[in-house]
Amino acid sequence: MDKTRNWYQQGVAEVLEALQTTSGGLSDQEVRARQQQHGLNCLPEPQRQRPLTRFLLQFHNILIYVLLGAAAITLALGHWLDTSVILAVVLLNAAIGYLQEGKAARAIAAIRHMLAPQASVIRDGRRQSVAGDQLVPGDLVLLEAGDRVPADLRLVTAHSLQIQEAILTGESIAVEKAVEPVAGESSLAERRCMAFSGTTVTSGQGRGVVVATGLATEVGRISGMLTQVETLQTPLLEQMSALARWLTLLIVVVAGLILVYGVFVQQQPFRELFMAVVGLSVAAIPEGLPAVLTITLAVGVQAMARRHAIVRRLPAIETIGSVSVICTDKTGTLTRNEMSVVTVIAGQQHFGVEGEGYAPNGELTLDGQVVAVEQMPAAVRELIRSGALCNDAELSKRETGWQVQGDPMEGALLTLAGKAALYPDDLRRHWRRTDVIPFDTDNRFMATLNHDHEGHGMIYLKGAPEALLELCSGQLDGAGDTVPLDSAFWRQQADRIARQGQRVLAFACQPVPEHKVVLDSADLASGMAFIGLVGLIDPPRQEAIAAIAECLGAGIEVKMITGDHVATASAIGHQIGLPERAPPLTGAELERLGDAELAVKALDTNVFARTSPEHKLRLVKALQAQGRIVAMTGDGVNDAPALRRADIGIAMGGKGTEAAKEVSDLVLADDNFASIVAAVREGRTVRDNLCKVIGWTLPTNSGEASAIIVALLSGVALPVTPIQILWINLITAVSLGVALAFEPTEASTMLRHPRPRNDRLLSGALVWQILVVSALFLSGVFGIYFYAISAEYSVELARTLAMNTLVVMEIFYLFFIRNMQNTVLTWRMIRGTPIVWMAVLGVTAGQFAITYLPWAQRIFDTRPVGLREGLLVVAIGVVLLVVLELEKQVRLRLFDANATGGGY
Ligand code: ATP
Repeated sequence: MDKTRNWYQQGVAEVLEALQTTSGGLSDQEVRARQQQHGLNCLPEPQRQRPLTRFLLQFHNILIYVLLGAAAITLALGHWLDTSVILAVVLLNAAIGYLQEGKAARAIAAIRHMLAPQASVIRDGRRQSVAGDQLVPGDLVLLEAGDRVPADLRLVTAHSLQIQEAILTGESIAVEKAVEPVAGESSLAERRCMAFSGTTVTSGQGRGVVVATGLATEVGRISGMLTQVETLQTPLLEQMSALARWLTLLIVVVAGLILVYGVFVQQQPFRELFMAVVGLSVAAIPEGLPAVLTITLAVGVQAMARRHAIVRRLPAIETIGSVSVICTDKTGTLTRNEMSVVTVIAGQQHFGVEGEGYAPNGELTLDGQVVAVEQMPAAVRELIRSGALCNDAELSKRETGWQVQGDPMEGALLTLAGKAALYPDDLRRHWRRTDVIPFDTDNRFMATLNHDHEGHGMIYLKGAPEALLELCSGQLDGAGDTVPLDSAFWRQQADRIARQGQRVLAFACQPVPEHKVVLDSADLASGMAFIGLVGLIDPPRQEAIAAIAECLGAGIEVKMITGDHVATASAIGHQIGLPERAPPLTGAELERLGDAELAVKALDTNVFARTSPEHKLRLVKALQAQGRIVAMTGDGVNDAPALRRADIGIAMGGKGTEAAKEVSDLVLADDNFASIVAAVREGRTVRDNLCKVIGWTLPTNSGEASAIIVALLSGVALPVTPIQILWINLITAVSLGVALAFEPTEASTMLRHPRPRNDRLLSGALVWQILVVSALFLSGVFGIYFYAISAEYSVELARTLAMNTLVVMEIFYLFFIRNMQNTVLTWRMIRGTPIVWMAVLGVTAGQFAITYLPWAQRIFDTRPVGLREGLLVVAIGVVLLVVLELEKQVRLRLFDANATGGGY
């Protein structure tokens, strides 16, 4: 195939011939052959950083520079042992950072993979959904509003097709597409008969033949600019890195001042003092914190993905746990989106429909009696025919049973046709479609123009009953003749079936002359005859019912926002357990309300029916004006503004359009409401764990550092030597802190109310915690040290005890932090998780080693500890836990009467 061909200058027939394609698309065999020749339709993966570069980048951090500086000076002073411990801290830290960053990057890459776009194609004469990268030149691709164009296409048909091509042309206004060739050389923007890969369909429908894939596409040629690498970066991480930088600076300044004070005022020997100050700096710098926070977030991203919630914009992971209102679609999210027609009303008669699923087996019944096709009134047959023709879905039998490609509701209409022995394939062959007005959520109808072989033309219309009754002036009677419309009767019937929770769809038709081949909305303004109604059931998802109950328990409100009939919406609302504090609000009523009124009403109302996408945007704003943190779901291209505006925009992975996914923060792989709630739960867990990591790291670092500062300033001997403090940092910071990143969800996580907007992680409460813990650490360390000295133990043994006490207190403090959200000590909390125990066991083994192994004793200048003293050390840890717990109880009672947790 000639790559340099100007496809836009050629007519449709010429292009199809050149690409050897027919209207039935390529055969599977041909597709495979072309895939061999052209490769996959994808752009090359962005260049990853080389492993060595990634490893070296771990050292590019002011915290590490300070540590490396300290290592260099200790080496110059001949303290090679201290140098090696500092270097070990730095290396271990870099190794953990490197490994975890790799894991985070892989997690994100895997998630991107899950978001790979799909394309609707016609192959072997059938509509199919395939992965976008499987397309080959010559494939016939179907386009609909919201789709991302999957390859460069020469359009074959276009019905009101508009495409936004900003990524190629910079022009944000959508371009109206056509099929006529464009003469002469022209710019990309002028090639109206082309649809380019990566651009977005904003409205209409079309079909195009693939002329270029992968790197051969227009976007492929400029792909350099699209290949940026994404890293795990969120506001909190930036805030924490900034904090860590400031802390480092502060520590260096304080250390410098202490050095000057010690040498000049206290006249202490420089060398010793310097080593103490190095110990102080290493103890105080939270070198492990950034890595552990990244791990915590990466663990959260993965946990959400396991629960079918894919985080697209990483900062969202911090917000999702704070969501206080979830606004959700109904169809497919709360319900299963497995539709079946159960009621047909036409020709003044009310039929039931038997059978389950999409299999076209079952009968139509009238008053419980099966009705044969021939006995059905003409109006019923006309209704079924219009349902099959005004329809873009395909029904096919697979090994797993009957399946629908396209809209499940339309699939159900095909099943209905099959049950009535009016086979859709035959109908469609006989009544060819000449034009279409695609469904859109504002009009709530879809219309097609069909012609039979004899040239008779017919407009078929299907949509919401109210929308169709506006357009119709007559109706079909049982015999299929047009009589004046009885609007009140139909409204009453529609209401009746909607109240049973059925989704109602109406049908209308109108014959037109043979020569009429273009359909526009003016054609629907007169002469349409109403045929009848169908009622479809779409059962609620069982898991959605449980998830709603969970939300209510967690203080999260749920609002159902649907395009469906108000009575249907209300009935489904009941079935899934949405509390009804105020009557449902319809889109029309919502439009009459001012912003202020809406803000008030939106709080109490839980069901919004017959809404359009613009209403969603207003609702998000109204709820945000009331201080709520809003999650909003959406699937269509018109939902994009609301998704963007919401604090958490959630797109449907299955039925959602690419346009909706692109602006969303979260994509639900299974379109399921329960997955949103699972994501909120994981979001809360991540936030709790971030709190725990920070709440453990900063106070313990400050506790260690203040022990040294107090000793230096007061001129007493150091209770812990510099090399011992380096050791503590080496083994505890990287093992205990990391354990907190993997903490599971607490039992009370979904029983707490959502956190308010702007609730900061670095709060006054954290500063208080740092002060309290530092004071307790000081008392513990000095307490045991002076006890040992007064008992006339050697200074070395006193120091060994003090060092072990410090580590034991860190371990007990870890258990306290794990329990931040519960008010009482529980067995579950004491029992801990395997990861916590592994960390604790590792640290304990390390402490035994340096206390009892002779060679370690020589390096660290430690002495063996007796059983009695050993128990005393552990007892100090227990006391620390009890004191902290008491302090928390008092603080909760005094300041925070209605909070259930003691988090920051
Ligand atoms: P949600 O997914 O938000 O719960 P919905 O899917 O019920 O909403 P829409 O898709 O906006 O809402 O549909 C609104 C109404 O439009 C439906 O109740 C139905 O009457 C009509 N409708 C939906 N899809 C089609 C279609 N393909 N053709 C004709 N009419 C349709």
